[in-house]
Amino acid sequence: MKGKLIILSAPSGSGKTTIVKSLLERIPELSFSISATSRPKRENETDGKDYYFLSPEDFKEKIQREEFIEWEEVYANRYYGTLKSEVERLWNEGFHVIFDIDVIGGINLKKSFGERALALFIGVSDPEILEERLRSRLTENEESLKARLEKAEEERSFSTEFDELIINDKLDVAVEECFGKVREFISATLNEPGKM
Ligand code: 5GP
Repeated sequence: MKGKLIILSAPSGSGKTTIVKSLLERIPELSFSISATSRPKRENETDGKDYYFLSPEDFKEKIQREEFIEWEEVYANRYYGTLKSEVERLWNEGFHVIFDIDVIGGINLKKSFGERALALFIGVSDPEILEERLRSRLTENEESLKARLEKAEEERSFSTEFDELIINDKLDVAVEECFGKVREFISATLNEPGKM
């Protein structure tokens, strides 16, 4: 069976990871697409659960072998990508696949899968909210914080390429909105065969 794709993209700090987790808890038909990355593992992360952590060399080898649906160098020498094998695995298990992915990756997936994909852009009404959230997360140094904020500014301009813009100023409101959109989307019938 070919399932559907639910794409959540947002500038860093917009709360998309929290929203994805909450959707996974509430919608049993969904399963999370574990991305591959070459960035170092954070203390609270598990290989094969949060990401498949690869060395930059292994990552580049998989690019050569065309094992990715999409990949990107999101930050300098920090590669992230979606493996074809990951989406196939989840579809074969009967799930619709949910993605927590950066904005360009989200747009690329939406272009590849068209009607089979629901692309949600998670934003905030004021950029200062992003900075506060990133600072309180304590995972960034000043340099990487600055890089994430600059990237966020640029990414905001791409929100119109998504099916829906969800404002996450209040988490419970944003979760409810996403929940409604995703439920409606996965119960609708598709006209398009979809491709990989
Ligand atoms: P983080 O380092 O905070 O886990 O993620 C950095 C950024 O990379 C986030 O915006 C995240 O959504 C994005 N990202 C995670 N997985 C993928 C992926 O498979 N492809 C792309 N293009 N971006 C990803």
